[in-house]
Amino acid sequence: MIRRLPILVALVPGETPASFASRLAWANGLSFASEFCADQGFALQSLADGEERALSILAPLGGVDRFELLRGLVAKTSAGQYLVAGQLVEKRWITRRRLRFCPKCVAEDIATPSVGGAAQRCVWHIPSIRSCQQHGCRLHEDESYSHSRGPHDFAGRIRDLGFEHEQLEQLVVPQAPTGLESYLARRMAGERQDRWLDVLGFGAVALGAEILGIVDLFGVGAKPKFLSEGDKSQAGARGFEILSRGECGLRDLLEAIHCDAGSPVSLSRRHYGCLFNWLEQSHADQYEPLRAIVRDFMAETYPIGEGDMLFGNPCAVRRVYSVEALRRDLGLGYRQTLELLQANGFLTSGGDVGKGALLDAQALKPIVERFSGAVCQVAAQRRVNLPGLSSMLSLRAVSCHRLPGRPPGVPITTKASLMLSSPASNLASNWAKGTAVRSAWSGFRRPAGKPSQARLTLFA
Ligand SMILES: [Zn+2]
Repeated sequence: MIRRLPILVALVPGETPASFASRLAWANGLSFASEFCADQGFALQSLADGEERALSILAPLGGVDRFELLRGLVAKTSAGQYLVAGQLVEKRWITRRRLRFCPKCVAEDIATPSVGGAAQRCVWHIPSIRSCQQHGCRLHEDESYSHSRGPHDFAGRIRDLGFEHEQLEQLVVPQAPTGLESYLARRMAGERQDRWLDVLGFGAVALGAEILGIVDLFGVGAKPKFLSEGDKSQAGARGFEILSRGECGLRDLLEAIHCDAGSPVSLSRRHYGCLFNWLEQSHADQYEPLRAIVRDFMAETYPIGEGDMLFGNPCAVRRVYSVEALRRDLGLGYRQTLELLQANGFLTSGGDVGKGALLDAQALKPIVERFSGAVCQVAAQRRVNLPGLSSMLSLRAVSCHRLPGRPPGVPITTKASLMLSSPASNLASNWAKGTAVRSAWSGFRRPAGKPSQARLTLFA
């Protein structure tokens, strides 16, 4: 049976358990929260990491309802992730070491006898929240660090700074909360607001909004780390408007970026700048819904092949071909490809009209399949003039493709695809370079589940 402490303090809504312990310690005559926790049989760090045992001792000790205590819970979930008030946040996007607080909240806490010291709200851990919802002022950031207390003894750290009421008043800078900040703070308080946004990861909304806003307001060439906090706040607000429109909002922005780049026929990461980099570097699962929308948009807009990797996942199906991409897949010359397309009714006028054209991959499927007729291994080796191939390599499969217009049975081929085991790949590559055939590796196109194979395409 855990006995209540003789002197209790009121739990502040949204306060972190470590902060609650920090104020309880002071009220009961101990300056250091770490010392107080050790006396009770757990470490302050355990509270800061949301460990069950420490929490189950603290609640009865402080005379608070366990459910209320967990409202402001910060818990380590797995390597690199935290749950803050039930919201999943990457470790790199949580501010704990640096002191962040609302000067008005702190002044009120100190002045209220039942609170008895500054209480740290869990929303202050979120860098995308830059203002206090209650007081409409900017959160103050203090660079000082207490080596004797560590990062989690909040009330102690504030006491060490020795703020007088007037000094806290001077730190107040009016700043109205943006739509993004209000949404995030209310979500952390357990409020349901928007069906589409609510099922997106918390970090995906917070950081996604910011990066989309940066791209929209400052352009794809903007460098987020060089933007001021004010600019980022403005960007978050803009990006939140975009995300609030759901998938349509994001797609409209992508369409605008594509148009600004001159509607190019192939994908270039340069055209999407910091947005592309952010999507590529944000590996956590919670970003996948946003990555999937962008991946879909790109597959519809650029000739991306099935299995091509984009933001950590292979493209499920090819949606469009450019003439160049089709030419490569068929192993034909550019003119021959145009002729083939014209003969099959895909290009209506003559001349070199195909460079900027995008063609429906589904409609082209019968043509692509027709030119993928397999021939035997010996015939392929003879054709590409690589005798001894099988003795040097682990040859898995060979296929060649007929030239369009030639009757079946005429052994003229333009392309051979060899499935090679990976140890032999380098050898094959070097060897192919020395011959009169052009080679193109597409090993990177293999789905992640088949790492042992690579495809070498030889163009005769
Ligand atoms: Zn406040």
